[in-house]
Amino acid sequence: MSDSGERSEFDVVVVGAGMAGLYLLKRLRDQGMSAVALEAADDVGGTWYWNRYPGARCDVPSLDYSFSWDPELEQEWEWSEKYATQPEILRYLQHVADKHDLRRDIRFETRVAAARWDDEAQRWRIGTEGGDELVAQHYVMATGCLSVPKDADIPGADRFSGPTYYTGRWPHEGVDFTGRRVAVIGTGSSAIQSIPIIAAQAEQLTVFQRTANFSVPAHNGPTDADKRAQYEADPAAYREAARWSAVGVPIEPSEISALAVSDEERDAAYERGWQEGGLFGLSSKFNDLLVNPVANDTAAEFVRNKIRSIVDDPVTAETLCPNTFPLSTKRLCVDTDYYATYNRDNVRLVDLRETPIETITERGIDIAGTGGTEHLEFDDIVFAVGFDAMTGPIVSVDIEGRNGVSLKEKWADGPQTYLGLTSVGFPNLFIITGPGSPSVLSNMVVSIEQHVEWVTETIERMRKDGFTTIEPTPTAEAGWGQHVNDCADITLFPQAASWYMGANVPGKPRVFLPYVGGVDNYRDTCDRVTAEGFLGFRLVGDDGEQCNDGVVNRLQHDVATMLKLMAELELPPIETLGAAGAREFMAATNVMRPPGPDVGEIVDGTYPGADGDLAYRLYRPATPGPHPVVVYYHGGGWVIGDAISDDPFCRDLCDRTGALVISVDYRHGPEAPYPAAADDAWAALRWVGEHAAELGGDPERIAVAGWSAGGNLAAVVSQLARDNGGPALVGQLLVCPATDLSKQHPSIHENAEGYVLTKSLMEWFIEQYAPDGSSPLASPLLADSLADLPPAAVFTAEFDPLRDEGNAYAKALEDAGVPVTHEECRGQTHTAFHAVDALISPTPHRADMADAVNRFFA
Ligand code: FAD
Ligand code: NAP
Repeated sequence: MSDSGERSEFDVVVVGAGMAGLYLLKRLRDQGMSAVALEAADDVGGTWYWNRYPGARCDVPSLDYSFSWDPELEQEWEWSEKYATQPEILRYLQHVADKHDLRRDIRFETRVAAARWDDEAQRWRIGTEGGDELVAQHYVMATGCLSVPKDADIPGADRFSGPTYYTGRWPHEGVDFTGRRVAVIGTGSSAIQSIPIIAAQAEQLTVFQRTANFSVPAHNGPTDADKRAQYEADPAAYREAARWSAVGVPIEPSEISALAVSDEERDAAYERGWQEGGLFGLSSKFNDLLVNPVANDTAAEFVRNKIRSIVDDPVTAETLCPNTFPLSTKRLCVDTDYYATYNRDNVRLVDLRETPIETITERGIDIAGTGGTEHLEFDDIVFAVGFDAMTGPIVSVDIEGRNGVSLKEKWADGPQTYLGLTSVGFPNLFIITGPGSPSVLSNMVVSIEQHVEWVTETIERMRKDGFTTIEPTPTAEAGWGQHVNDCADITLFPQAASWYMGANVPGKPRVFLPYVGGVDNYRDTCDRVTAEGFLGFRLVGDDGEQCNDGVVNRLQHDVATMLKLMAELELPPIETLGAAGAREFMAATNVMRPPGPDVGEIVDGTYPGADGDLAYRLYRPATPGPHPVVVYYHGGGWVIGDAISDDPFCRDLCDRTGALVISVDYRHGPEAPYPAAADDAWAALRWVGEHAAELGGDPERIAVAGWSAGGNLAAVVSQLARDNGGPALVGQLLVCPATDLSKQHPSIHENAEGYVLTKSLMEWFIEQYAPDGSSPLASPLLADSLADLPPAAVFTAEFDPLRDEGNAYAKALEDAGVPVTHEECRGQTHTAFHAVDALISPTPHRADMADAVNRFFA
């Protein structure tokens, strides 16, 4: 019992009684656990308790933004509008609390100040601001992502003598602005919802905008008939589809690039999206808006043109046009009449980039005008300046883990979590929708439910299996942090100074906080972690411990997505198609890939191979020549492929290096087995050496390059050129090269299946080309000496059967004194580098390849 006479020991202490806290209580109670929720407010609701500003409503349709765990509730609750207002959502959550009698386990007006892990007792000791201490085996932070309002951080903010309001702490009795001169500072979602309503009431409204924001119309009204029908046909299936969608709302993802359609088609799609309105109308029309800046700008410009068409005054319209960050990389706002509000006579927009606030005064706000300070007088100031998002609510509690480690200190340079749910050094601490989880990039109810279910099921499993503590391992946590960053880095999100990046709070580390890999992938990841014996967690009980250490999701996110799509196609293994079938198959799939960048000129021709003419394709840069030359050998296991089968990669190499790239064909097995390909590759190099000048190249600067089997040939001809006194090569770029046909390297077993190039396919290739690969002209790694070879750049992929033989070749070259650039590309596969414009994560590696080639030529 605590000093106040209340029970103080629990299985689980939950902080927060918003959506997450309510569902946690319900689940824990159903599991027969003792649990209490501590809540700073005097009622349930969280976000919907605090944010009572005019116009506050959800921007995910209520039909989606509602609990799915109580089918009876779903039947009995009827939302009055597509996007319900704050009072209606609050009533809903109060109804949930009443219906399930949850209030009896909630202590209101109780703010948690500190929590300390007591290693001896194996319990959390949770201290409230009121001085009570509660003891619990598990401690769950359901404190929300947007529950700590940000300070105004404006000089003189506390000087103003009139009333000030924060949108996130709005007075319960409401505010009547009739006849008043009101300032609103901020133009985020909260401001954009409240400005039209305040403008309609106030005598004068002045909006202070630091960064113009993108907003799309809500078109609020009754729930869309189609959506309702889709839902009512099978509510359970609808909810399940939401759970396995990218953002927690069942919408069909687009498979079309914004750049793959005509300007007219694109604008028509955006117009349809604008008319549909809401978060997903416009932004879901194409698949590359969040990854390709050019595609994104087409949508951004569409919105800017809408603003120009709505706002009468051209100067105000331009000021409202966002142009400092890509669309949707800050949370997209959803409004009712926001832009049109600026056509009212009583509304003025102040652009803080032109005329910054000097100070807030007793009577108003001073701004630096062109002609000196301008004094603006107000009766009320509304601060719509946002939140210390995601980490703020967690680190505002003084959490001390094992060995006295403070969570705030651990997170000083950015949050470190495993799955966004847990953190090393803090056993039995769970965070709902924490940093590193999809949370704010999704329909939060779906993410909250998934987290609550994972946490409560984990606690239940621990109890059944006799474990008393759970904690992630450093390896798992570091791996997850890497994955979260990798996922963000292939998007445009990091380009915006957003609260997702911590950029809105002065001094906060700039780290992309949420997980952008999608609700569906995230759910699958959590499920796999559980299924793989709590991968990355250490569980300890009286009878022992269990730790299946490791990293989840080691593939780059876009690579994994592509592999998943390919797996769904259930394609036959290439080696079962025979050589002709395999070639046909490859040609057919090549037609479907993005073309790669434009180059100055493309010339197709023939060269004399070792046994007759063979094709080449020459890629010439647009710049004046003569250019340095890259003789390129295509991939395809010496069986498939030709001079144009690596076309996008060659274009990319030409574009990035400014070199003339000559992709040469060679004869293939089984019709022309070893040494035919090596002979042709050597003939091609000699021919280019002799004709470089005629082709527009610089004979003094010739390098070779190749991918896979082509990497093998590039390595082979480098050795031949050394041994035959020329042509003199300035470098060799070997991408995932086959260097040793013995099939002995561990990676061929480790990565035997699942990454396109399989062990069985590689074995088949070798069988067709050089079953006895013991000659150095088949296995360049087996050469007597690698000394005096030209400088090399060797790129290998982590998930490639050929990884280790490529790495071994790089090491052997280095040992032989050859200058080597060696990159083992994390999370990449054998085929990823060639998916130009289809995959983003390999792009930096291709840039590194080009840098290495340019160093050869320098
Ligand atoms: P919260 O609702 O934030 O609840 C956390 C609770 O913890 C609060 O009540 C707080 O008082 C309490 N608490 C925090 N710290 C302590 C402490 N130390 N001691 C005691 N109590 C504490 N998401 C969407 O998906 N769709 C939307 O349309 C949407 N609209 C939003 C509109 C606004 C204005 C805002 C601010 C957010 C919106 N969100 C929306 C995000 C919203 O926060 C979540 O959808 C959801 O309500 C979060 O629920 P929660 O229980 O996790 O956290
Ligand atoms: P926000 O998006 O962070 O917006 C804050 C605004 O205040 C920004 O325009 C910001 O400008 C400005 N600002 C901050 N500090 C300032 C300063 N010192 N001087 C001048 N301007 C300053 O906050 P929010 O509007 O409260 O929304 C936060 C999140 O809550 C949303 O992104 C959304 O996820 C959720 N939300 C949802 C809804 C909904 O429609 N359902 C409604 C409200 C909130 P800068 O951009 O320059 O930093």
